[in-house]
Amino acid sequence: MMSELKLPELFGCDVFNEATMRQRLPEKVYLGWKNCIATGTQLPLDVANEIAEAMKNWATEKGATHYTHWFQPMTGITAEKHDSFISPTGDGRVIMEFSGKELVRGEPDASSFPSGGLRATFEARGYTAWDPTACAFVRDKSLYIPTCFFSYTGESLDKKTPLLRSMDEVSREAIRILRLFGDSDTKRVIASVGAEQEYFLLPKDLYAQREDLRLTGRTLFGAQPPKGQELDDHYFGTIRTRVSEFMRDLDEQLWRLGILSKTKHNEGAPCQHELAPIYTDANTACDGNQLTMAIMKKCAAKHNLVCLLHEKPFAGVNGSGKHNNWSLATDSGKNLFSPGKTPSQNARFLVFLAAFIAGVDEYQDFLRCTVATASNDHRLGANEAPPAIISIFLGDELTAIIQSIIDGTNYQEPEKGMLRIGVDVLPAIPKDTTDRNRTSPLAFTGNKFEFRMLGSSQSIAGPNIALNTIMAEELGKFADELEKAEDFDATLQKLVSKTLREHSRIIFGGNGYGDEWKEEAARRGLSNYPSAAQALPTYIDQKNIDLVTRHGVFTEAEFRARHVIHLESYNKVVNIEARTMVDMAQHQILPAALKYCHELCDTVNAKRSLDIPCKAESGMIADLTTHTEGLYEAINHLKKALTFVPKDRESAARYYHGTIIPLMDSLRTDADILEVLTAKEYWPYPTYSDILYY
Ligand code: ADP
Ligand code: MG
Repeated sequence: MMSELKLPELFGCDVFNEATMRQRLPEKVYLGWKNCIATGTQLPLDVANEIAEAMKNWATEKGATHYTHWFQPMTGITAEKHDSFISPTGDGRVIMEFSGKELVRGEPDASSFPSGGLRATFEARGYTAWDPTACAFVRDKSLYIPTCFFSYTGESLDKKTPLLRSMDEVSREAIRILRLFGDSDTKRVIASVGAEQEYFLLPKDLYAQREDLRLTGRTLFGAQPPKGQELDDHYFGTIRTRVSEFMRDLDEQLWRLGILSKTKHNEGAPCQHELAPIYTDANTACDGNQLTMAIMKKCAAKHNLVCLLHEKPFAGVNGSGKHNNWSLATDSGKNLFSPGKTPSQNARFLVFLAAFIAGVDEYQDFLRCTVATASNDHRLGANEAPPAIISIFLGDELTAIIQSIIDGTNYQEPEKGMLRIGVDVLPAIPKDTTDRNRTSPLAFTGNKFEFRMLGSSQSIAGPNIALNTIMAEELGKFADELEKAEDFDATLQKLVSKTLREHSRIIFGGNGYGDEWKEEAARRGLSNYPSAAQALPTYIDQKNIDLVTRHGVFTEAEFRARHVIHLESYNKVVNIEARTMVDMAQHQILPAALKYCHELCDTVNAKRSLDIPCKAESGMIADLTTHTEGLYEAINHLKKALTFVPKDRESAARYYHGTIIPLMDSLRTDADILEVLTAKEYWPYPTYSDILYY
């Protein structure tokens, strides 16, 4: 049901945002809250009490009966436990109550969230604390309070806390640089993020008939349909009615929650779509993306659809990713990755650019790990997604400028002397629209970087934590050197050209899909980890531990816990997929093919007794038999192999990648051939054609 409200009134109407707070809180309380945010200090209890009271009144007017501390455990999705506002009066009635204490602190029974060893189950207490920089909102009759989640001993158990810490760090180091360029006003530098979200929509009834989709979110079997995406007739195509109704409903729900949903269109694969929001600060963008994913699923169900966020629901057509547009801006809105118009602005731009290039080159493995999941393995390096090798695309013009800085030669385009940063005016650097190089994992797009390796289902926290932290690190190193420089311009010039020279290997503008790039990247000494199992062990390399602990983004224990969880999750996902395959092959596919074969055998017997030729049936029986035998063996191989999984996590990941996945592939090969050989009426579940062209 579309709301009667006009969009400007609708937007954010379910959010207890700053405007609402200003309106509903006594000025003293409102300013107290503002001050806590600006200084990063704790909310005094009396302020918290008044905010809680106002929040409760506002929420109950909107029909809320419950409140929940909403948090982001290390599973990558969100969690919530709902408490009602009711409080007994002693005479059989209740009043609605909500205190400051309940607002700022919660204690969910958190024993079943992964802690990566940070917290033994017997001391399972976890705490949640309101993140006052994020707005509370009402959804499904509950007041949602965005919170951080941590253990009794204070270790972060979530994705929000380290993200907030990394945002503080990059702000602090960026401001040191800005001060050197004479900026004395900026109080905060904000990591801003816009995450474009891809997804699939399928009819619910077809989805329900496939165990693989229900249990794993992707098809584990399925022969290629006669038509794929070769005609390119879906990309930006007309949106069908059922889908556009879903999209309209989704937009309204997102707008109500203050999420800046902006663009929607069909994507490359049949049934695939995309939603792009307008960028905000990284913390809000991360909350917003989590909500977007959750609401997409719920909203789809309402329209008799299912929303798949899996990275590769169907073999042979594009998978889904998430483009993470990232940049840094001052609190007055100046984008620090915008090439400037004056020499000083350009010099500043080049410092930020050089820091980014150095950081990505130095910490390429860390970045790779933040997108390393079992499901994303199906995308990275496949034909629609960037390769598993990290590199940066800058566009022709910027690459040429950087080359001339490295070489110390003239930049040839406009008539100019030798390019001296901070002295000469760089040529205006246009937003690169001509060559958007879709094969690049990290592309400069005019005033931001687009990190394109993220999987569609993952939290964007991890990649942004990494981007913020490596940027903080490099900016900090630059600031150390520049702050003690006697001749600022000369030191700057040397620093930028030295940095670019040392890290230019990470810059690549060519085709990332080809084998030539793999060879070239190897010559350049760039890492190439085609699978999560290969990438994840590098997560806890000493240099990464040093990086994150130096900036206080993670303690070593917190960081190691993430490593454990990433590996465990990889192992569990592959294990569930393998067991689902065995189950489907044994209980659905093999029986279907055998039944059909049996029917053909009966026909052959009948025809033979009447002396009628039955070459077709005999041929089909032979083919079916070859592949039912093959399938039977493949099932047994896989079942057996699953009993030998090593205990140790890293060995298990290697085993799943090196042994189990190839066995799954060969099982699928026989099953998919059987799908083609078996008469449609015998086949136990909807095929690719049924689903993708419903
Ligand atoms: P396209 O990539 O299709 O050309 P845009 O460049 O407009 O589209 O933006 C794509 C995404 O990048 C959007 O989510 C947008 O809000 C986001 N974006 C734009 N500018 C910035 C920025 N400075 N920082 C972070 N994200 C940004
Ligand atoms: Mg994009």
